[in-house]
Formats: sequence, structure tokens, C-alpha cells
Amino acid sequence: MHRNRVRALALVTSAVTAVTVTALTVTATSASAGDFPVPTFQEFASSSFQDEDLTYIVNGDEPAYNVGDLRVLYDQMTGAERYAVHHAPTDGLIVNTVRGVDDKWTASQALNLTYCVSTKFGTNHAKVVTAMATGTGLWEAASTKVNFTYVPSQDGACTTRNSSIVFSVEPTTTTQYIARAFFPSTSKRGRNILVNATSLYNSGSWTPGNIMGHELGHVLGFRHEHTRPEAGTCFEDNNWRPLTPYDSASIMHYPQCNGTSNDLSMTASDIAGVRALYGN
Ligand SMILES: [Zn+2]
Repeated sequence: MHRNRVRALALVTSAVTAVTVTALTVTATSASAGDFPVPTFQEFASSSFQDEDLTYIVNGDEPAYNVGDLRVLYDQMTGAERYAVHHAPTDGLIVNTVRGVDDKWTASQALNLTYCVSTKFGTNHAKVVTAMATGTGLWEAASTKVNFTYVPSQDGACTTRNSSIVFSVEPTTTTQYIARAFFPSTSKRGRNILVNATSLYNSGSWTPGNIMGHELGHVLGFRHEHTRPEAGTCFEDNNWRPLTPYDSASIMHYPQCNGTSNDLSMTASDIAGVRALYGN
């Protein structure tokens, strides 16, 4: 979740070029499709940010785990562009797709999404636990087919290597984003939500519970709503399938991308979307 895209992108450019350019295979791609310019791989890579764990962060808060993954994402994006089908404006919530298939949990997995909250949050631990309870509660109230379970007994060993939980919630000190998440298709080693707890509780009208709700939307498979053409800005790629009509106030829509909500609250369309994917 980005609070300020413009500031973040300015920081990203200087951080990435110093660290990664020599490692990247640069391909000049000048293809364009539809209404959206297609960036070269170098431009795509330059718009990412390399986190403390060396993961590349694209689209504000979504990870690619190495240059190879970054390249795969780029190829998917540009390949999808060439064959882009622009969805009708009447088609809100959108699910991530991987090679055309919905990126979602199975019915049994969706009912048992266990997580821990690292004790490394220190004095902020209780606040993050509370924000997670609020965020998970938003989705659980929307669908009885989605259930997150907090396992506090694992908080002392709360990393992606802990096989007792589906995912971990861990601290980060980066100020490039407030929090980042993962998708259902992400392998276990990448299944964590990283949170800057100081930023989480100093984000103005964006409440900590709603910010975690946004990240948990990614965990459930939902993409940024503003990648839809109706937003007119902040396009990411076409690897998604619409579940509801476009919703400029969606919890998955960055307000700074022509959004119409200033508090990231969950909308009726978000509720309809999670029900469309997982059931009522
Ligand atoms: Zn996001």
C-alpha cells in the first residue's frame, strides 16, 4: 500500500538504478497496445523497488522474488497486452489470474487461513494484532467461506519458514510502502505481509484496519482496482478477471489513482466480489 505514489516513485528510481541495473537483461520493447503504453523491461524494472530482503516490489506493494520473477511478470504483462481484451465498463473487484486461471485458495484453504504476528514488532505488536483482527474481520463478515485464524503461539517464530501457519505478518523498516502482501499463487517462502507499524498508524484517513484489509484483499487474490481501464491511470497489466462492475471506491483502489474513497473502506461491490469468488 502506497500512501503517496509520486513521492514513492521518485524514491524508487534512485534506489533501484544503483542496485540492480547491472544485473538486469535489458530488452528494448516498443510495442504498444490499446490505450496503454507498454514500458521497456528497463522502465518496468526501474519502477520497481528492491526491498531489504532483495525482493523487487512492483505495482506499489506486490513482490517479485528475483530478477527472473520480475522478467516473468514483465513478459506476462506485455504478452497479455498484445492480446488484450478490454473489458466493458459495466464489468469492480477483480481477481488476479495466472496464465488465464483465477488465482484463489481452494474452499478448504479459504476457511483456514492461519497467520502469526511476529514478536519483532516489539512495542507495536498489540497494535498490529488489532489491525489484523479488523482487516480479517472485514472479509470474514463479507463471506462465510473466508476465515482467517490468528495463531499467537507461533508469534515467537513468525517467519515464512514456519510451516504451522499459512502466512506470517512481519515488520519492515522501509518507508517505500506502508505494507506489502502476496497472492494465493505465491510459494510458501514468499507468503508474508510486511508492515511498517509506524506508517500504519500515521496514515491519516486510512485506518490501520482498512490498510490491512487492503493487503488481505491481495492475500485472497484480488488485484488493484485501479488497473482497470475505467480508472484512466495507474495501469498495471491485464492479468485479471472482473468479478463486479468497476468501483472507484473499492478497498483495492488507491485513492491517489483517481479513486473516490478517502478512507479505504470496504464497499458493497467489494462484498459482492468476494462472494462471487468464494461464495456467500
Ligand atoms: Zn495493494
